[in-house]
Amino acid sequence: MIIGGGPTGLACAIEATRAGLDYVVIEKGCLVNSLYHYPTQLVFFTTPELLEIGDLPFVCEREKPNRIEALKYYRRVAESYRIRIHSYERAVSIEGADGAFRVATEQVETGAERAYLTRKVVIATGYYDLPNRMGIPGEDLPKVAHYYRDAHPWYDRDVAIIGGANSAALAALDLYRNGARVTLIHRGEALRRTIKYWILPDIENRIEKGEVRALFQHIVKRIEPGRIVVEDQRTGEERELANDFVFALTGYRADDDFLRAAGVAIDPESRRPSFDPETNETNVPGLYLAGVVQAGKETGKIFIENGRFHGQQIFAHLRHHLSRAAPAA
Ligand code: FAD
Repeated sequence: MIIGGGPTGLACAIEATRAGLDYVVIEKGCLVNSLYHYPTQLVFFTTPELLEIGDLPFVCEREKPNRIEALKYYRRVAESYRIRIHSYERAVSIEGADGAFRVATEQVETGAERAYLTRKVVIATGYYDLPNRMGIPGEDLPKVAHYYRDAHPWYDRDVAIIGGANSAALAALDLYRNGARVTLIHRGEALRRTIKYWILPDIENRIEKGEVRALFQHIVKRIEPGRIVVEDQRTGEERELANDFVFALTGYRADDDFLRAAGVAIDPESRRPSFDPETNETNVPGLYLAGVVQAGKETGKIFIENGRFHGQQIFAHLRHHLSRAAPAA
């Protein structure tokens, strides 16, 4: 069983097919659900050949593909390899042990429950489902979102963006260029240096020209209808800003509780799950991790580019393991 139908889960399914193993992919949303939820106008920072899986060429018009092209590409992959995927079905628990796992799932729409018996499990659930929460009053108001999609609704509105990394910079630029009044609030002294090299000068110039207002070394204390309250961390001074909408782009985290409940050990400091980097097998024999779910806090270190190869390591190990485990003819 492969849990998660992102690029990594699909790459694992292809490796399972190549290894002649029976499998199913369980996906709680649509095919490549995380990519579907990216900003609608997103252009990948990776060139297409680095997003390819299953040796299928990814051809696109420009140097880098956009979200629509990537969605189309992965649909074609799923079709070409006839990937067996159960979409809109969430894995809720993994019990049992190597050779006899029991994975419980539920249909997202109806809540109908199902259980599967499987010898091995690969978890490829990514990190994009759980936003890092700020723990401040007002965070659950309907005017707060943790995902940025589109600028148009915020034309002529006061929009706050919380965060100082790539997603925050991209959203600030897009909103500014589509007529929103943007305030970027970041607890750090400056924007993160990890912002892509072609985006950083653009956002820095907008800030310098006052087109995007930036409040560094500030935190948001509360969010209320029509306003937010920010605090200058250097002086402790609080002030109110007019506000119609907040994008809290403070990063995302893997579902550690799901991993822990399955018996996977997680380092409390780095939040990295325990696995063998050669095989990707966790401390639970027969249970593997693939893709960015391996990353712990350092979600910026595993991308489609490198996570797409985890399936090869896993299925090389499984092939070896299962052939040794097979009874002699
Ligand atoms: P995901 O793509 O997140 O797939 C995990 C899947 O598991 C999801 O479909 C999810 O719905 C499903 N799932 C989760 N929990 C369950 C459950 N309990 N049961 C069933 N299904 C479940 N990387 C690049 O290489 N190049 C880029 O240009 C690039 N641009 C990016 C731009 C943005 C805005 C973001 C946020 C990320 C970008 N990345 C890029 C990173 C890349 O998206 C991730 O590294 C990649 O998606 C990881 O693939 P994955 O299959 O491990 O995880």
